[in-house]
Amino acid sequence: MSFKLREGSLNHAYLTDEDIWRIFSSLMSAKSSKSATYKYVLFKSLIENLYNVNDHLELTYEQLAYSFAKMYWNMVAVNGITNHNSGKNARTAVIIMDYQQAHQVPPGWAFDRLAGETQLQIINKMKAAMKVNVFGALYGDTDARFYAFDHKAERLHFHPQVYKFLLNYQSLLVQLTNFHLGKMIEKLNSPLSAAMLLRIEDLSKRSSLKPFEEVLLSYVTKTCFYCQKPLQQGNRQTQVDHFIPWSFVQSDQIWNLVLSCGPCNNAKRDKLAKEDFLVKLIDRNEELLDKMEDGNLTGQFTAYKAEKLEMMYEYSMKNGFDEIWVPSP
Ligand SMILES: [Zn+2]
Repeated sequence: MSFKLREGSLNHAYLTDEDIWRIFSSLMSAKSSKSATYKYVLFKSLIENLYNVNDHLELTYEQLAYSFAKMYWNMVAVNGITNHNSGKNARTAVIIMDYQQAHQVPPGWAFDRLAGETQLQIINKMKAAMKVNVFGALYGDTDARFYAFDHKAERLHFHPQVYKFLLNYQSLLVQLTNFHLGKMIEKLNSPLSAAMLLRIEDLSKRSSLKPFEEVLLSYVTKTCFYCQKPLQQGNRQTQVDHFIPWSFVQSDQIWNLVLSCGPCNNAKRDKLAKEDFLVKLIDRNEELLDKMEDGNLTGQFTAYKAEKLEMMYEYSMKNGFDEIWVPSP
C-alpha cells in the first residue's frame, strides 16, 4: 500500500493541463480514499508553499509540516472541529488535543500565538505523523504524477508541469479545495454553520502581524511604503500590508510584507499595487538581505529571490488579481 512507502519516485510521463485537472478532480472526490481531511490539508499546504521551493522545485517536510500543523491547530483547537477521519480518531487531531490539554492552552488561541518552541514541538510531531499516513497516500492518489518524496532526505519534489499548473490556477484550486474540505468536515462532524464554512478560507490566517511590524520597524524608516507619509498614532497608525494580497498567497513571508498607513492599507485591500512599488519592494528586500546576519531576520529570506516576487506578481494577475491600485496623493 502506498501510504507505507518511505519514498516514491516521480512518474515523468508528459502531462497536459487536462490530465492534471483529471487527477485533481479525482483527488478531490470523496471516492479517491477513505473519508478523511488530511489530503485536502496537505494539498493546501503544497499550495501555500509554492513560492518557498528551492531551485529544484523541492520543499522540505519542515515547511509543509508547518502549514499542516497550523491548519489542523486552527481547525481543532480554535474552531472545535475534532473529527477528521471516519474510522478512529485522526492522529493529527489527537496530537493537537493532547497538546491543548497538557499545556492548558486557552480555547480560541490561534497557532501563531503559541510560543515558538511549542510550535516547533507540534510541527515535529506532525511531521512524524505525515510520514506514516500522509505523504505516501496523496502520492498514491495522484498516481505518482504530482510529486516525488523521500522520508530520509525529508524532501518533496514537484513534477515541473504540475508545479506550473499549480501556479497558473492557484486561486481556483484553493477555492475548490476549501469547498471539498468543507464538505468533508461536514460529513465527519455535525453540519457546520455558514459562518464556520467561511472560516475555512481563513484557516491559515495569522491572528496578528504585530511581530512582523516590530521586525520591520527596526530596519526601515517609519513611513508608509505607499504614500510615504510618516506613520504616527491615530488614523496614520502603522499597519502591516501583504504587498501581494494575502487572499492570493495565503502565507506571510517578511519579503512580501510592508509597513503602511491605515488609509492606504484600507484602500488597497486585496488589489495589486502599481508595478513601481514592486521595484521598490525588491530594493527594500535587497537592503534587508544585507542585514541577514542579524538575529531578527534569520531564516526569513531562505526562499527569497527577487524573481520569485516578480513571479508572484505576474501569477496573481493571471489568477484574477488584475485591478491595479495607486495611493491617492
Ligand atoms: Zn499611506
